[in-house]
Amino acid sequence: MSQVAPEDKFRWIVDTGWKGLCVRCGEKTMFDGWLKIAKKCPSCDLDYRFASPDDGPAFFSLCFVAFPLTFFGVWFQVAFDPPFWVHLFTTIPLMVGGCVLALRPIKGWLVASQYLNNAQEAGTAKLWAKLHAEADARDTPPND
Ligand SMILES: [Zn+2]
Repeated sequence: MSQVAPEDKFRWIVDTGWKGLCVRCGEKTMFDGWLKIAKKCPSCDLDYRFASPDDGPAFFSLCFVAFPLTFFGVWFQVAFDPPFWVHLFTTIPLMVGGCVLALRPIKGWLVASQYLNNAQEAGTAKLWAKLHAEADARDTPPND
């Protein structure tokens, strides 16, 4: 997405990724289901094979959700000294729900970030070149 100004990059990534919008056309097509990245955008034909957030969503979900909630659980225990079963209805559902709900926006954010920054793993340069050649061919009208 070369038309995103450098100072708007972060906002664009957050907006696009967290809403699950296609990184090229902006339609709500990034996900095919809850967490599965679509193979292709049905609207603009963008091939999502470039997207490989791997363990990223789980890692960031742990950092942003599970760790803070762990501190909450410890604080709750120390401050109120509730019986253990109270955690079954407070800390544990918060932890599980929070982590699961955070996965999708985080995954979208990582995919949008990969697209914008042309992130690629070692050995995928050819695939990138091919994807960009296809996109350029589609965006450029034929000369004759
Ligand atoms: Zn699209």
